[in-house]
Amino acid sequence: MLKSLLMATTLVTGLLIGPSSSFAAEEIVIYSARKEHLLKPILDAYREKTGVATRYLTDGEGPLLARLQAEGSSTPADLLITVDAGNLWHAAEQGVLAPVESATLTANIPETLRDPQKNWFGLSVRARTIVYSTERVKPAELSSYEDLADPKWKGRLCLRSSEKIYNQSLVAMLIARLGEEATEKIVRGWVGNLAVPVFSNDTKLMEAMAAGRCDVGIVNTYYFGALQKEKPNTPVALFWANQGGNGTHINISGAGVTKHAKHRQEAIKLLEWLSTPEAQQLFAELNMEFPANPAVKPHATVAAWGDFKSESLNVSLAGKFQTSAVRLMDRAGYK
Ligand code: FE
Repeated sequence: MLKSLLMATTLVTGLLIGPSSSFAAEEIVIYSARKEHLLKPILDAYREKTGVATRYLTDGEGPLLARLQAEGSSTPADLLITVDAGNLWHAAEQGVLAPVESATLTANIPETLRDPQKNWFGLSVRARTIVYSTERVKPAELSSYEDLADPKWKGRLCLRSSEKIYNQSLVAMLIARLGEEATEKIVRGWVGNLAVPVFSNDTKLMEAMAAGRCDVGIVNTYYFGALQKEKPNTPVALFWANQGGNGTHINISGAGVTKHAKHRQEAIKLLEWLSTPEAQQLFAELNMEFPANPAVKPHATVAAWGDFKSESLNVSLAGKFQTSAVRLMDRAGYK
């Protein structure tokens, strides 16, 4: 009776978790920087399959991390879900996650997409690659992120703000691969090639390109997918960067079990399930990302962009070199 009552009350998901809220013993509590519409269908599927209920709080990654730190050992959160390896790395550095030993996760998630210290695991993959105007650029003119620093792109490049962690991670991975000196040259070249001031998001960047304000840029693939879906005639196309070298820059959304999880075993089970083909299909399709589990094919729309070689360095380096990247971009005048 009590159990069914608890189940009934926890069927209502998505409620904001107030500081004084109490949680039923069976509930797994998730702090998520992923929006509700990306999360709820997956958690609903998990509940249907296992009977295990979840509650979640969605907010920005900064506020969630601050909350976890402030709550300390009294946090109700069992699992942290967020985007960008830089954010997950930061959460691990702040000591709010605890390592998970799991043969299932090790088998399902490639080594480059998970924390070597096992604090977090990638669950879906996004590429941050080149987009170009199909009206003014031929794909044969394109090659790499480095090449966008070439003077031939002067007055033709659009970039999103360096304040966004996606660009910090991209530059961090360039540092990991090429070192600071070479990376700074590239970033200075980008800044010198800018057609217009930096944008606050990837969609605005592509819209400016379609409007003729620039010819090349760098965006996350799922924003391109969303634009393609909404305005199929937009004269902007994807180009897989660095195929002749180290591969296209990729990043993840992922999750880690919190250090003070009250339902650690249940949270690990959920995390393991999220890595299985069943959940991977759902997880990646909802946001037009690539599944992290290589056994799962991407959604047809995403698959239509073609195969590409992705960066082979571990995504955790995006966190390791994040501070250097931010300083470097500042020095280079990348706003
Ligand atoms: Fe995004």
